Amino acid sequence: MKKLHICNTLMEAQHLKAVLEASGIATMIKNEHVFGALGQVPLKELMPQLWVLDETQLDDAKNLLAEALDPTPSSAPAWRCSACGESLEAQFDVCWQCGERRPGPD
Ligand SMILES: [Zn+2]
Repeated sequence: MKKLHICNTLMEAQHLKAVLEASGIATMIKNEHVFGALGQVPLKELMPQLWVLDETQLDDAKNLLAEALDPTPSSAPAWRCSACGESLEAQFDVCWQCGERRPGPD
């Protein structure tokens, strides 16, 4: 069993546990109950810790964790609809205002 990550909150630990287990990686949370009992931000060594049960899955777990902790899906810039001028976030391929498609790279 290997320690994967020290979480800032129990909610974070539970979320990451769910993400990893959805990919077939068994984990456990240490200090889950200590955190709840204190009702405040605990010392570092008492923070919720996410552990991977099978050490051969540690690398996969780290990759999933990196994705889960990065809230930005891409670094692509926002774009402006050529038809109606609406400003759109990078993750949208179609203008939600008028249905115009994002201009391609060509
Ligand atoms: Zn538009």
